[in-house]
Amino acid sequence: MRYIVGLAAGLLAATGIAAAQEKPGFRDTPMLPDGKWHVHDADRPYPAVVTPGATPGAAPSDAVVLFDGRSLDAWTATGTPWPVKDGAVTVPPRVGGKESLLVSKQSFGDVQLHLEFRSPNPPTKSSQDRGNSGIWFMQRYEVQILDGYQNPTYADGTVGAIYGWKPPLVNPSRRPGEWQSYDIVFERPRFNADGSVKRPAYVTAFLNGVLVQNHQAMLGTTIWRQVAKYEAHGDAAPIQLQDHDSPVSFRNIWVRPLPEAALSQDSTGGKQ
Ligand code: MG
Repeated sequence: MRYIVGLAAGLLAATGIAAAQEKPGFRDTPMLPDGKWHVHDADRPYPAVVTPGATPGAAPSDAVVLFDGRSLDAWTATGTPWPVKDGAVTVPPRVGGKESLLVSKQSFGDVQLHLEFRSPNPPTKSSQDRGNSGIWFMQRYEVQILDGYQNPTYADGTVGAIYGWKPPLVNPSRRPGEWQSYDIVFERPRFNADGSVKRPAYVTAFLNGVLVQNHQAMLGTTIWRQVAKYEAHGDAAPIQLQDHDSPVSFRNIWVRPLPEAALSQDSTGGKQ
């Protein structure tokens, strides 16, 4: 039998056809610490194939496109509609002093997000009043958007900051009027049944391709002039773009909801 199988495999190899039943890898190697797979396990599932975007920053095949430069169908404005023009959407002027947040209709938990923004040019005002907006994951956890180009402000409030907690590692801001990119991995917090924090939220962020937050734990719900703390909530909630009374523009917004397997594991197989 072994001879016949070997002969068949040899014939298949000779014709360039891979034997379907023979997966590359091993079944006699030691078990990994998670207790599920051997080292180089032949039976470990292959990663799903995803077609990347045709150009850097373009949405891959498995992304949920939230804004493609034309339609705002994926969003609801809480007040004045956000105008779309020339492939970009912009925070509208305040009407009667009221803010208008842009809230995604779909809810998300763990996500990879890509977004491009442009600070108003010429800049007006200074510090927190210059080009302020923000990406609010789960409508609670803000990664700051600000005109960070030659605009002194408190470090934990500049662009790339986890607002009120962690300044960005560096400031790779482009000039106002230029498009800038954010690529962010957000891991939602996990709560125990009694509402206590089992695992905090984590953020990894690249601003213009430069690392500004590296798997940074968040303190809790974003808040001004106070220490953030968590309040238990569900597993999914909308993504929200902030209206801070500054005409910041956005384009090319997409997310990839992430599976549990995306959470980092420690070397024993436990969740980090
Ligand atoms: Mg903000």
